[in-house]
Amino acid sequence: MAQATPNHTQTVSGWAARDSSGKITPFNFKRRENGENDVTIEILYCGMCHTDIHHVKDDWGITKYPVVPGHEITGIITKVGSNVSKFKMGDRVGVGCLAATCLKCEYCKGSQENYCDQVEFTYNGIFWDGSITYGGYSKMLVADHRYVVRIPDNMAMDRAAPLLCAGITVFTPLKDNNLVDTKGKKIGIIGLGGLGHVAVKFGKAFGHHVTVISTSPIKEQEAKDNLGADDFIISTNPKQMLEKKRTLDFILDTVSAKHSLGSYLELLKVNGTLVIVGAPDKPIDLPAFPMIFGKRTVKGSMIGSIEETQEMMDLCGKHNILSDIEIITTDQINEGLERLAKNDVKYRFVIDIAGPSSHL
Ligand code: NAP
Ligand code: ZN
Repeated sequence: MAQATPNHTQTVSGWAARDSSGKITPFNFKRRENGENDVTIEILYCGMCHTDIHHVKDDWGITKYPVVPGHEITGIITKVGSNVSKFKMGDRVGVGCLAATCLKCEYCKGSQENYCDQVEFTYNGIFWDGSITYGGYSKMLVADHRYVVRIPDNMAMDRAAPLLCAGITVFTPLKDNNLVDTKGKKIGIIGLGGLGHVAVKFGKAFGHHVTVISTSPIKEQEAKDNLGADDFIISTNPKQMLEKKRTLDFILDTVSAKHSLGSYLELLKVNGTLVIVGAPDKPIDLPAFPMIFGKRTVKGSMIGSIEETQEMMDLCGKHNILSDIEIITTDQINEGLERLAKNDVKYRFVIDIAGPSSHL
């Protein structure tokens, strides 16, 4: 347990899980005073990421209870530290997964601070002052300004929230693989959930042919009609998988549960790349033959840097890309987590933290 720190004097109302039952209940806790590099944010909305489920249920064995989840946060700045010139009171901003990094290593200096060895996250992390970080299922956040991004004026704050994690997590692999500026590739998205549906939107906005690879036949029509997917394959149907063998240049795997990559890899052309962003608690099966026979690459990717997050957010503002959401109240958090675990959401729950009277 981290030490209580003397300048943690602000009482904040939030919602926390106390144990691996994962049940969320109201929780009052302390946040630090707004320091010279900090901004204070009145939280309006917080998206519900599958990572929140992994944490509240301690799937990954790393949870420090009580845990206040939430790393898809949008809100309004209410205080600005004396060293902060980038933001002012009233600014519309977002905070994603990052709370602290070392600021000195080659990754921090090279705008890849999400890969800093000392990265600490918005919740279940340990901040520089030794305190445990509490996330966006709460009314207010104090964040170092270096981990805060602007939300363009034309973007709705509720539908922008999931971009802070789901959005950036699928944007960076597309960027890394040259799929933001080059059009006309055939890309596949495995799993049509929070991450997957934003990936489909990005794929279409950037001019690609997009195939959804899903376990849910029920999602096909809407994926085509509303998200603009060009093709839809049911991954549990071997005939469909075989028919699409060697058709894709690139695949993004957003699946949250244990699975085997073998049949998915066969969908890639020779030299194709599959990037894993989904984070199941158990190892993924990776058979050697589909990699060897197709000279294929499998790699991973974690969120993105703050510079990339701002770039993505500005691009979303320009192309009018927003997450498709179901708004829930703070009383419905448990119901939301249960439905998300059952794959029953289109496509992201967003918690209306400030309440209906505060809509902006
Ligand atoms: P989500 O909304 O629950 O979506 C996951 C999707 O995976 C489901 O909608 C489902 O799509 C598919 N799926 C679920 N179980 C499956 C199974 N057994 N076999 C095959 N497909 C299955 O979750 P999310 O919020 O998008 O997050 C997805 C994963 O990414 C989580 O593990 C999360 O922790 C991780 N994540 C990683 C990063 C990172 O930086 N790398 C960032 C954020 C989240 P269909 O119904 O279409 O099959
Ligand atoms: Zn997330």
